[in-house]
Amino acid sequence: MPNYTAPVADMLFILHDVLGLDDRETSEAVLTEAARFAENVLQPLNRTGDEDGAKLEGGSVITVPGFKQAYHSFVEGGWQSLACATEHGGQGLGTPLQFAVAEMINAANISFSLAPLLTAGAYHALSAHGSEDLKQRYLPKLVSGEWPGTMCLTEPQCGTDLGLLKSRAAPNTDGSYTITGTKIFITYGDHDMADNIVHLVLARLPEAPAGVKGISLFLCPKVLDTGDRNAVKCTALEKKMGIKASPTCVMNFDGATAWIVGEPHRGLACMFTMMNDARLLVGIQGLGLASAAIQNATSYARTRLQMRAPTGPKNPEGPADPIIVHPDIRRLLLTNRAMIEGCRALALWVAQELDISHKHADPARRQQAEDRVALLTPVVKSMLTDLGSQAANDGVQVHGGHGFIRDTGAEQFVRDARICQIYEGTNGIQALDLVGRKVPMHEGRLVADFFATVTNHIRQSPATMAEFTTPLSVAVKNLEEATTWLTRNANNREETASAATDYLRLFGLVAIGHMWCRMVAHATPQSPKPAVARVYFTKILPETASLLARVMSGAVPLMALPGEDV
Ligand SMILES: Cc1cc2nc3c(=O)[nH]c(=O)nc-3n(C[C@H](O)[C@H](O)[C@H](O)COP(=O)(O)OP(=O)(O)OC[C@H]3O[C@@H](n4cnc5c(N)ncnc54)[C@H](O)[C@@H]3O)c2cc1C
Repeated sequence: MPNYTAPVADMLFILHDVLGLDDRETSEAVLTEAARFAENVLQPLNRTGDEDGAKLEGGSVITVPGFKQAYHSFVEGGWQSLACATEHGGQGLGTPLQFAVAEMINAANISFSLAPLLTAGAYHALSAHGSEDLKQRYLPKLVSGEWPGTMCLTEPQCGTDLGLLKSRAAPNTDGSYTITGTKIFITYGDHDMADNIVHLVLARLPEAPAGVKGISLFLCPKVLDTGDRNAVKCTALEKKMGIKASPTCVMNFDGATAWIVGEPHRGLACMFTMMNDARLLVGIQGLGLASAAIQNATSYARTRLQMRAPTGPKNPEGPADPIIVHPDIRRLLLTNRAMIEGCRALALWVAQELDISHKHADPARRQQAEDRVALLTPVVKSMLTDLGSQAANDGVQVHGGHGFIRDTGAEQFVRDARICQIYEGTNGIQALDLVGRKVPMHEGRLVADFFATVTNHIRQSPATMAEFTTPLSVAVKNLEEATTWLTRNANNREETASAATDYLRLFGLVAIGHMWCRMVAHATPQSPKPAVARVYFTKILPETASLLARVMSGAVPLMALPGEDV
């Protein structure tokens, strides 16, 4: 059975030593308490959640025993309101701390984490775009978590391509709307953990233009202010590969009462406020799973005895050496550790920039921070969720055949991690967002700031950092060359789309390399950070050269065959 110990010390190091945030004492108190909740309340429910799964009984979704109580403890502990603005009744403790806590919750129990994740997104969308009346009625309960939120986009014919959406909204004389349609794959669309659920639903008004320009956003509660049940219900639950305790619902809106959020036909822009936040948090899901999977694999590798070390016995009294002596096991554990710690630093940096983009006194600094968040959101979502799957698979490999057997829990991480690469916009779509929107945005302003940030840091680093900054400079050159290639081919969308996934990884590896340089610069002499950084700079970062070659190989190799011969 897996165990989980939250990496509180590493999180504090990144938040306060590397990113320079103040009030370490508060962070330490919050993270220590969050670690207790994740380790002692959520983690023990992870296995039974997977085995029992959520159930649909008599038209209502029943969560796995223990989830309801855990959710009540979560709300009572004030965990949902941690980063919400104080003017909305939140604690205003900031996004970096929220992300660190979210990593722990995901590592302990990803199925549970989805309810708070979507509630946080609904809070952002409503606080940014809702009318005063709607905010008064719904924000306090979303902030506390008493009424969790959902995100209702997907329909059977409409997944990535939201322009195909069919659900309808008809205006009523009292200012409300009536929603009709079927949504699928709705996470926590129904459950018994709360008295009410706040659905944010995309639908079309009468006479709306076709495509994405004709979509509006609505708030549709499960229970109306009168106490009556609204005409929205879960008609089926999906049977799925992982995250089995998180109900994935088919939702029927059968003349349900709702209120518009934001302007008519501008719903997609409003929903993007929710989705951008959710994309970063889905990245955190991948990171949390990677961390838990590799922690368990490392413990196993310290105790499993097989064969002798290549340099001779390290455990001469025993029948064999622990497998942690073998270089290939080291490769599996340490390459993942280097990615996990680098990705953690990257995500927390983006969280810090997110807060700066809202709160900094200087508008130019706010703009720079907004640019950084926009550029790095698809990178964080994809890199961290790819890591989640890779680390979970490598965790199974370290366990050998025992990893394939349910008892070790290693295989559950693989099944749970897989969805993170798909929902909130598949990783392929994140890559298209990076090359098609973010890189060319404002004539390359976002990407130019990123290059300036990384190269200035390299230039200002002392000579003692050369073993790290020199390979990073090479990787930056590879990324610059790939960016020039993209810009040159900007008018040929087949070329840029063919390069997108490789370009995103190249971008991500440079961003993580930048964070590693920042971490090593702050590491104490006793810290293992420089040793782990060496793994990153020698075993992982050189991949940027092959990624550049793949980017520049263009579309022809992929598009030469006709569809029927692929
Ligand atoms: C467990 C689970 C929970 C979910 N929770 C929610 C939820 O709470 N709310 C909600 O609204 N939705 C939810 N979803 C839906 C999820 O967001 C979609 O499944 C996802 O966006 C992909 O849509 P699709 O499944 O229709 O795939 P499709 O859109 O059919 O895509 C299939 C493949 O084609 C690729 N593709 C499509 N277009 C392009 C393109 N232009 N270029 C390159 N590749 C392309 C995709 O990347 C993908 O690999 C959930 C799904 C699951 C499985």
